[in-house]
Amino acid sequence: AVILALESSCDDSAAALVTSDRQILAQAVVGQAERHAPFGGVVPEIAARAHVEILPDLVRQVLAEAEIEPGEVDAIAATAGPGLVGGVMVGLLAGKGLALATGKPLVAVNHLEGHALSPRLSDADLDFPYLLLLASGGHCQLLEVKGVDDYRRLATTIDDAAGEAFDKAAKLLGLGYPGGPAIEKLAKEGDPTAVPLPRPLVGSGEPHFSFAGLKSAVQRAVASGEHHPADVAASFQQAVVDCFVDRTRLALEASDAPSLVVAGGVAANQSVRGALEQLATDYGRVFSVPPGWLCTDNAAMIGWAGAERFAAGKVDPLDTPARARWPLDPEGEKVRGAGV
Ligand code: ATP
Ligand code: FE
Repeated sequence: AVILALESSCDDSAAALVTSDRQILAQAVVGQAERHAPFGGVVPEIAARAHVEILPDLVRQVLAEAEIEPGEVDAIAATAGPGLVGGVMVGLLAGKGLALATGKPLVAVNHLEGHALSPRLSDADLDFPYLLLLASGGHCQLLEVKGVDDYRRLATTIDDAAGEAFDKAAKLLGLGYPGGPAIEKLAKEGDPTAVPLPRPLVGSGEPHFSFAGLKSAVQRAVASGEHHPADVAASFQQAVVDCFVDRTRLALEASDAPSLVVAGGVAANQSVRGALEQLATDYGRVFSVPPGWLCTDNAAMIGWAGAERFAAGKVDPLDTPARARWPLDPEGEKVRGAGV
């Protein structure tokens, strides 16, 4: 099947054409960083309006590039949440319009399921179940991925998300947004042991993540003026990696899933990838991580999740709502507002 996919949950507008046999026929991502830069963060209203401007051209572009007529696609996949709800509505409504116009079914995709299933797009050998570290701009969770639409959450963050921690640390260091790539670049010139920083919850039997205390410590280190920025960046990155490894080790001990996977924007980080791969090896698990471009937001992962859902017969009505909050697991669904 051929899936036309749209992504608009944050500040990246994206469209893609993906097949159920893992071909990416065409894809395009347009970031909005320069539109939000003057405000020091993503402005929801600006993001929503930018998606309106950008998405139609991207849809035309991917169809033209793949030489496919709209009527030739088998389903339309669109992100229906979680995210900035104005932007989600723009992409979802565009998807509904395309579904109506073509008479093809709509597949409403959870953006987090897009991240969670993305390793199966890049790795045809990755079977369910697998243990997933989902580290992104808004989330930091350990999940057992048992199948499409079938998740068990083992851990989440009690305060900041992993990508959020990178973005805040970058801001404190006067680096641009998004902070993750900027920190990674600067960290290459620094000493990861130079600045003593905390590793919240490391060694604790509690399974969760916490990054707020680490951010405060970075703030103090920067304010002290005693450290080279590259050393702060390298030490911060190392602290996050140490937290990932320790928390994921706990999850590995609680799960007999044969594979360990890391996905989400922070999984684009080389140090994170390297450390998690080593951990998987130590625990005798197969390791899989998507290429960097598939870790940060894109529509290919939404198309792939759409293909998996479509194959399972999961299509959605045209009155499907856009959701600001949409946990992957049934437990998260019950606890409103609790670190999901
Ligand atoms: P969510 O998926 O939770 O809704 P999001 O879609 O905004 O959030 P992603 O696009 O998945 O987030 O990831 C973006 C985040 O990843 C940003 O916080 C960014 O700083 C971080 N990030 C991107 N590249 C890197 C990198 N090389 N190293 C560390 N962090 C990175
Ligand atoms: Fe994302």
